[in-house]
Amino acid sequence: MLVDTLINIPYYHAVGKEMDVFKQAYKNKIPILLKGPTGTGKSRFIEYMAHQLDKKLITISCHEETSSTDLIGRFIIKGAETVWLDGPLTTAVKEGSILYLDEVAEARPDVIVAIHSLTDHRRELFIDKLGVTVKAHEDFMLVASFNPGYQRGFKELKPSTRQRFIAVSFDYPEPKIETEILINETEIDSDTAKKLVAIGNKIRNLTELGLTETVSTRLLVDAAKIIHSGLPKRLSVHVAIVEPLTDDLQTIQALKDLCDLMI
Ligand code: ADP
Repeated sequence: MLVDTLINIPYYHAVGKEMDVFKQAYKNKIPILLKGPTGTGKSRFIEYMAHQLDKKLITISCHEETSSTDLIGRFIIKGAETVWLDGPLTTAVKEGSILYLDEVAEARPDVIVAIHSLTDHRRELFIDKLGVTVKAHEDFMLVASFNPGYQRGFKELKPSTRQRFIAVSFDYPEPKIETEILINETEIDSDTAKKLVAIGNKIRNLTELGLTETVSTRLLVDAAKIIHSGLPKRLSVHVAIVEPLTDDLQTIQALKDLCDLMI
């Protein structure tokens, strides 16, 4: 489990009405679900919004071992004593932070059970190990992300969970915006940024390749970063865009040939 606390001012380029939606959701303290493939700016968006609203952000990257204990807290042995240690969810509930459960569908089912009473009018957290119920601070807000495109045959979110959230879809930005993002993130020249975005869009449209996940903005940003810091363009595209996408040798070769023509 990774817990980050916001330090720097994040850069986020709006792609639709997501900022307005978030502000109203925050005002009404309605939980929000950010849906979309990996690397489409969901985490960056929530970092940006937390900064805009001047709220502390606590991020939990959920995985298959993430349990309600990890979120709520546990007893630890300190010297001769047993002391209670609040988990990140309890901390956020008490101090009124924004809690971001990244990839919530990956977590163990008891995590979903634990957040239910926080996602309706009760806005309270039951800490079973202490036998206490904590009322959420009025500034507390729950945000979760979810990748509906997973093809690994697991982890859907139940309708009864989904319907507790306002949901916003994230996708790859249109070329003009994605080019701007690359330039802003890496200071790469605009011509190369445009070419990288064209490569991204070309591969995204090659549905016949049957890739589980396609080129994300994150991969394009990574390619732009290593080009900007001096690695040759073609090599950068191979290692930052082609290789992360697939292990199939024929597909790798076909993608490398395609990219070589475009950069
Ligand atoms: P996700 O949480 O959806 O997996 P991230 O928020 O981590 O994706 O985005 C990956 C990277 O893509 C970011 O670090 C940033 O460089 C870039 N990025 C994607 N979308 C945007 C955007 N709209 N504005 C600014 N940067 C973006």
